[in-house]
Amino acid sequence: MEYEAVIGLETHVQLKTRSKMWCGCANQFGAPPNTHVCPVCLGLPGVLPVVNDEALRLTALTGLMLNSKISAHAKFDRKNYFYPDSAKNYQITQYDRPSTEGGWFEFEYDGAGSLDGLARVKITRAHLEEDVGKNVHFDRFSGVDFNRAGVPLLEIVSEPDLTSSAMAYEYLTSLTAALVREGVSDCDMEKGMVRCDVNVSVRPKGSQKLGAKVEIKNMNTFSGVRRALDYEIPRQMAVVAAGGAIPQETRRWDELAGITETMRSKEDAHDYRYFPEPDLMPFVPVDEWMNSVRSRLVEMPLALKKRLIREYGIPAGDAEVLTNDWPLADYFERAVRGAKNSKGVANWVINNLRARLVQRGCGLEDMRFPISGIGELVELVDSGRVSSKIAQEVFEQMFERGESPAAIVEHKGLSQVSDVGAIEEFCREVIVGNPKSAEDFRAGKPAALNFLKGQVMKLSKGKANPGMAGAVLERLLRG
Ligand code: ADP
Ligand code: ZN
Ligand code: MG
Repeated sequence: MEYEAVIGLETHVQLKTRSKMWCGCANQFGAPPNTHVCPVCLGLPGVLPVVNDEALRLTALTGLMLNSKISAHAKFDRKNYFYPDSAKNYQITQYDRPSTEGGWFEFEYDGAGSLDGLARVKITRAHLEEDVGKNVHFDRFSGVDFNRAGVPLLEIVSEPDLTSSAMAYEYLTSLTAALVREGVSDCDMEKGMVRCDVNVSVRPKGSQKLGAKVEIKNMNTFSGVRRALDYEIPRQMAVVAAGGAIPQETRRWDELAGITETMRSKEDAHDYRYFPEPDLMPFVPVDEWMNSVRSRLVEMPLALKKRLIREYGIPAGDAEVLTNDWPLADYFERAVRGAKNSKGVANWVINNLRARLVQRGCGLEDMRFPISGIGELVELVDSGRVSSKIAQEVFEQMFERGESPAAIVEHKGLSQVSDVGAIEEFCREVIVGNPKSAEDFRAGKPAALNFLKGQVMKLSKGKANPGMAGAVLERLLRG
C-alpha cells in the first residue's frame, strides 16, 4: 500500500502598520521591553479598543491578492484563555465571520500536483487578530515584554492542498514574497513577523477521506517547516503501514533533536468560549473604501516574472533575478524602453549594474547616467562600434561620471576600429613582430592565428574589431 501526505498551513503574518491593532502604540520591533505599551494593549480594565483602519485595508488587500471574497460583514470575537503573554486573558480574533473567505494562491512549483511548473493551493480564509506579548525566561525568573501585544496579525488558512514538504516550502516562500511586494507585511523572519502552524496527515494514495491530523505549532522558519514535515510524514506513514492509527494531536518540533513530540492530545483541547467582541462593531466596507484598497494592488511577483519573459523574451533565470529584486526590475523596464536588444539590456543590468551596486554599496537612485544608457551601450556593442571589452570600460565611466556611453566613447576615443586600412597596419606590425607564429600558421596550425589576433587586440588597445582582425590576418598570412 502506498501513502500520501496531506498538508494545510495556518500562516500568521504581522501587518505593516504604524500603530497597533486597537491603540496608538507603535508597531515596532526591537524597542526596549515594555516601552510601546498603554492601558489598552496592557489589558487594563475599562479600556476600549479602536480598530486600526490600515490593518483592515491590508487585510482586504490580501483578500484581493488571494482571489478571495471580502466579507461585507466581518466581525470580531473573543477567544478566552489564560496565559501570561496575554494580559487581557482573551485574544480578539475573528471566529465565524472572518474578513476574507475562499480564494487561491498560485506559485511556481515543479513537483507532484503541479501543472506546467505551477501549483495552486486553495485558501480557506484570512482573518485578523492581535499578536500577544513575549515571555522571556531568565535564570531565576521570567518576564513579559508587551511591546508585541496588540500588533495586528493576519492568519491565512490554506485548504489541505499541499502534498509534500517541498511544496509547503515553496508555498510559504512565494506567499510571503507576494505579501512583501503588496506592502502587507515585511515578513521578516528574523523579527518573528511570520509564524506558521503546520497541519499534516497521511492517507492511502488516491483516497478521498482525510486522515486524523497532527498540528505542529508555532514554526518560525520555513526550513524548520520543511524539516519538521520531512520527519513527521514518514513517521505517520510508518505507523499507519504497520496497522496503527495516528491520534489527532498537537506536536512540537524540536529543532535540535530534529524530531516532533507530543504536546497535547485532542482530549485536552481548549474550550475557548468564543463570543462576539462586545466592544467592536462588525465591519462593513463601503464601495469607496474597497476601491481605494483595490487601487493599491500591484502586480504580484509571479505575474511580473511571467510578463518579463513574455514581453522582453529574456531567459527565465534573468526574469527570476529581476522578480526577486523589484527596484531592479523596475529599473530594467525603464532602461529597456526603446532598446532593440532587451536580452542584452537584462544581461547588463543583472551582471554589471547589479554587481557594481553591491560592490559600491549604493542604490539605483544614485545612478546619474541617463536611464537609456545601458540600452545605448548594448547598441554600441551590437553594431560593432565598441568591443565588449571596451564596453566594460565605458560602463565603468558611465557609473563613475554619470555620462552617456556615446559621450564617453566620443571624448575618450574608444570607438572600435573597423577601418580596414587601420586594421591592416596593426596586422602587418604583428606579423613582422611574431615571425614564429606566422610561420606556425602557414605550416597548418590554426591556433597560431588566435595568438596573432590577441596581439592585434593588444596593439590596438582593444579597439580593433576582432572579427575583422581575424579575417585580415588570415588574408595577409595566406596571401
Ligand atoms: P482547527 O479547527 O483545528 O484549526 P481546521 O479544520 O480549521 O482545524 O483546519 C486548520 C488547518 O488544518 C487548515 O489549514 C486545514 O487545511 C488543515 N487541515 C484540516 N484537516 C486536515 C487533515 N486531515 N490533514 C491535514 N491538514 C488538515
Ligand atoms: Zn497600546
Ligand atoms: Mg489550528
